[in-house]
Amino acid sequence: MSVSQWLTVYKVLPRYLRYLGIVTWVDLILPLFLILGNSLALSIGVSDVRGLGKRAGLVSTINIMPLFLGGQMNVTVKGYGVGAGFFAIIHRWLSGILVVEGTVHLIVTLSTERPDSLTPSLAAAIAATVLIFAICLSSVLRRRGYEIFINSHYILSGAVIAALYLHNPTSVFTPPTIYLTIAVGLLIVTVLRRLTLTIYRSVGFKKPLSRASIHTIVYRRSRQENIPLLDAVHVHVRLPRKWTYRAGQYINLYMPGVSRTSFAQLHPFCVAWWYSKDGSDYIVLIIEKKHGFTKQLCSHRSIELNNSAEMVALIEGPYGRELDLDSYGTVLLFATGIGIAAQLSYIWQLLNRSQTGQSRTKKIQLYWQVEREVHMAWVADRMIELTSQDVSQILNIQIYVLSDYLSLETKEGSRIPRGDLEIDVTYKAMNVDSIVKQESGQRQGRLAILSK
Ligand SMILES: Cc1cc2nc3c(=O)[nH]c(=O)nc-3n(C[C@H](O)[C@H](O)[C@H](O)COP(=O)(O)OP(=O)(O)OC[C@H]3O[C@@H](n4cnc5c(N)ncnc54)[C@H](O)[C@@H]3O)c2cc1C
Repeated sequence: MSVSQWLTVYKVLPRYLRYLGIVTWVDLILPLFLILGNSLALSIGVSDVRGLGKRAGLVSTINIMPLFLGGQMNVTVKGYGVGAGFFAIIHRWLSGILVVEGTVHLIVTLSTERPDSLTPSLAAAIAATVLIFAICLSSVLRRRGYEIFINSHYILSGAVIAALYLHNPTSVFTPPTIYLTIAVGLLIVTVLRRLTLTIYRSVGFKKPLSRASIHTIVYRRSRQENIPLLDAVHVHVRLPRKWTYRAGQYINLYMPGVSRTSFAQLHPFCVAWWYSKDGSDYIVLIIEKKHGFTKQLCSHRSIELNNSAEMVALIEGPYGRELDLDSYGTVLLFATGIGIAAQLSYIWQLLNRSQTGQSRTKKIQLYWQVEREVHMAWVADRMIELTSQDVSQILNIQIYVLSDYLSLETKEGSRIPRGDLEIDVTYKAMNVDSIVKQESGQRQGRLAILSK
């Protein structure tokens, strides 16, 4: 499906479905498919309530297998060619279905078999059900405390497997226990694969480990006046070996030296751009300060503007699937805030390919909305490089600034072209609907829209 078609679908689906995480037809069809498949598995050959209870127990155990790939989603996505969004939907919905099936199994067993005492098997079944509910509830922590969420997710999932084994302690190669064995096996394989990938990317033969330097970002207001930014840094990672850099890639960054807890943290960041210097390859990440790892990382930036702090950085990846935009005459790229990091690599790639005749793109429009005017410095130098790479003049950049204007003379709604560069800065919120309407009226060739 093309990007533009994807966005059209995104728009036509009813708004209330988004509360269920459903935004596209794929999001809608996948859950229906999972519900239908599970309903069939629960009903075929089942004649009474007791049979339904037993089947629900079996099917829920089978569902655990794909869920154990979910924790290692990046590796799964890379290894088996499935999109990350696709897998996330499966993971979310299968977990919900598992809760329902586990509960049905427990309630039907309790009501039909009416056990006199709390046997170890029953206690384990109750414990497994409670743990599965706890896993679902822990998802509310995802936004507030990601590290607590992810670690409790792993611990609770391990506890569910142990409880299910105690509930039905057969040989590990006999159903239903074999499904638990397969789930654990899949987890071990993906963890090993992930470790191998990290070592491959971060350790080179007779080369030092990959290292990262943390650079302070500076807003250059005039020759004399430089404003250092406190809420983001550039991280340049020196790589022991190259890879084929492509648009849309991101890596998981592991920097144990950042804080006392960072040895247990892995964070995803887009590869904003890359370069070679003195025989080494570097990737550049733009990292915005949040409240945990990124806050600690920003605290390592040097007070002296020309200096940078260096520390060991291991890399897992690259992950992410490149969208093929080459056949589109007009490409509209939308970004808000740090989303710009993902769009820069697309601009570079499209400019590069259109120069070599590999792309049909005649017009690239970047629309970027920033919270504060100084945030333009996150990518200012890179934008100048991109505009100078644009010999055919197909790139146009529109920046929208929401607040904290640097000049007292700037009024809301004013629009300032930036010198010779194809960059306009407008001091108001970006109106995506009207931009898309206007651009689709003037498009050259097919239209692709990508938003971050
Ligand atoms: C594919 C991808 C690419 C990204 N690219 C960039 C980028 O180029 N630049 C940038 O500044 N940010 C990027 N992010 C966001 C970045 O990963 C988080 O801001 C960062 O992990 C927050 O770390 P923290 O401990 O400071 O977060 P906190 O302050 O603890 O949390 C802030 C937010 O980040 C989320 N978060 C925290 N840790 C993780 C994690 N390990 N994995 C996923 N989400 C997490 C939390 O759920 C929360 O919503 C990207 C995220 C993803 C998924």
